[in-house]
Amino acid sequence: MPCSPVTSGPDDATRDRQPVAFARRGELLARVRDFAAVRRSLGASSAGELAVLTAARLADTLPLACVAAVGQDVIRVRCGGALDEVEHVSTAVRAFFDPADERCDDAARLGWAVGSAVAAPEVDDVTLAETSEAALAQALTSGGGETVGAALVAGEDLASELDRALAEDEMELFYQPKLHVRQQVIKSAEALIRWRHPSRGLIPPADFIPLAEERRRVGPLTLWTVRRAIQDQRRLRRLGHDVRIFINISGQVLADAAFAEAVCHYIAAAPDARLGFEITETAVIRDPEGAIANLQRFAAIGITVSIDDYGAGLSSLAYLKQLPARELKIDKLFITGITSSHRDPLIVRSTIDLAHALDMEVVAEGVETHAALALLSVMGCDMVQGYVLSRPVELETLASFLAEERHHRASADTRASFTRLSATWKRA
Ligand code: C2E
Ligand code: CA
Ligand code: CA
Repeated sequence: MPCSPVTSGPDDATRDRQPVAFARRGELLARVRDFAAVRRSLGASSAGELAVLTAARLADTLPLACVAAVGQDVIRVRCGGALDEVEHVSTAVRAFFDPADERCDDAARLGWAVGSAVAAPEVDDVTLAETSEAALAQALTSGGGETVGAALVAGEDLASELDRALAEDEMELFYQPKLHVRQQVIKSAEALIRWRHPSRGLIPPADFIPLAEERRRVGPLTLWTVRRAIQDQRRLRRLGHDVRIFINISGQVLADAAFAEAVCHYIAAAPDARLGFEITETAVIRDPEGAIANLQRFAAIGITVSIDDYGAGLSSLAYLKQLPARELKIDKLFITGITSSHRDPLIVRSTIDLAHALDMEVVAEGVETHAALALLSVMGCDMVQGYVLSRPVELETLASFLAEERHHRASADTRASFTRLSATWKRA
């Protein structure tokens, strides 16, 4: 993709040269939160060069994006490509400006707000620019903690298409295996929904689940997921693989009595189904009484309850223990940097110990490297899930993964890391 030079002036050249045939285009704006304070601290001359120099370093890390300094305190990034390519740029830009991220730039400590927008091909450049500006404005007003504002330009259109998508079977479930570390067996898999849109390609859940929640469409969507997961599990079992399938349950349906009734009905019709529900503490907090009542019903009919994204919120494990949960998933926030951070391994180890004391199995999600897998294994983590084993894949690919026992190959690669890390960790 052609790229503009890093520039300090308002730059419209990139807009003209932006190819229009991309599946998606993204625009991100990063702005120093308090430029006056930065100027006082760095001096006018250094502060004046801040955006240009920072943009140059950012451009070095993103060869396929167009990075430009706009004035003294704003950096604009434009990119295009398949949705996952645009998302990759977006993640990299956010990491670059996030002082808590190990990939951040030195300038990140000055405090930046980031706003982003992703557009479908039919959305014009002006709308895209206005949307990213609105997202930046939202990020700027959201105080110190929240640095990211995002908006999907095509959201309106997508929402109106959701019903058709469900009726015409455009949704798909991808599966990501969870490996039991000690037994070296794939015990379960998480179902992750995708929307195979006829013109927009594969849309990830983050782009439509919030819309479905807003339009109160999560009920039908989740019931579709339960039905499909039951069918898929049956197919897997016929192929000789008996894995429990975990489904993500949104807070909007968790406490809903009609939803629980429908689930019980499906399970009664398929008593051999082995399902699990992943729930977050935020989902429970909406209506704790209703949620706990439903969770008890689910546990009673053999559905394993798993607490998802643990550590990302504020609840203590003691509070969550009121739920009939057997599994605790530590949020990938603590896992992806586990071998490079000083703090994260301590948090993870104490969480594992506490969860075991409360009789729960622990899953680490977002395990991307063999070194992380080895460390988690030494810490006594029961199960791992993440790119190191497999990305979320279609059912057929999961079946081949299980048939070829590909996790054994991954485990062999982990062994070298294991020996080294095991010694270090035991010494610590
Ligand atoms: P989640 O439940 O936390 O799912 C894990 C997400 O992390 C998935 O993104 C998965 O692709 C990604 N992931 C897996 N392994 C790794 C790794 O090693 N490194 C990194 N960096 N990421 C990894 P995905 O599929 O885009 O799903 C995003 C979220 O959408 C899910 O987060 C879940 O909250 C929601 N979601 C997905 N499917 C459904 C569904 O059927 N219903 C509802 N209500 N929500 C869903
Ligand atoms: Ca999940
Ligand atoms: Ca999760």
